[in-house]
Amino acid sequence: MKALLVIDMLKDFIDQDGVLTTGNAGQEIIAFINDKIAEFRKNNFPVIFVCDNHEQDDKEFDMFPAHCIADTKGAEIITQLSVEATDKIIKKRRYSAFFGTDLDLYLREKQVDEVHLVGVNTNICVLYTAADARNINYQVTVYKDGVASFNEQAHDFALEEMKNTLGCQIV
Ligand code: ZN
Repeated sequence: MKALLVIDMLKDFIDQDGVLTTGNAGQEIIAFINDKIAEFRKNNFPVIFVCDNHEQDDKEFDMFPAHCIADTKGAEIITQLSVEATDKIIKKRRYSAFFGTDLDLYLREKQVDEVHLVGVNTNICVLYTAADARNINYQVTVYKDGVASFNEQAHDFALEEMKNTLGCQIV
């Protein structure tokens, strides 16, 4: 069984006026992700929205401007993607969708052994989610037209790293 992880498609990362916007790179993957969500739903595969969701004074803000604070507009999923009642929402405070969340348990309960990744940033939350998934033996597929970063060089590096070091399929 496979599942789609839609990572950090949130207003602070995707809207042009978001605090940590990925700009055009993030805008350009929305249509692809919408198609992927429709494809997974049609086949009754789980669709999981992984959402950055920080405390006001989160330690991550030592490195990045404050973003995706719980219960603020910036932490909301962008309006261009529709969330259905059957979708799973995972809130996270760190880069990896597995760290401090019930994602692994949820996937096991659904008998998922293969996760497919889309979203942002390729070199941050996508990369570290892929690494944790590989460490606990999930197969990982990353859609290169469905991921983006505010740093194009880091995006390219992360795709290579996920392929060559982590053994992800990049398609
Ligand atoms: Zn964050």
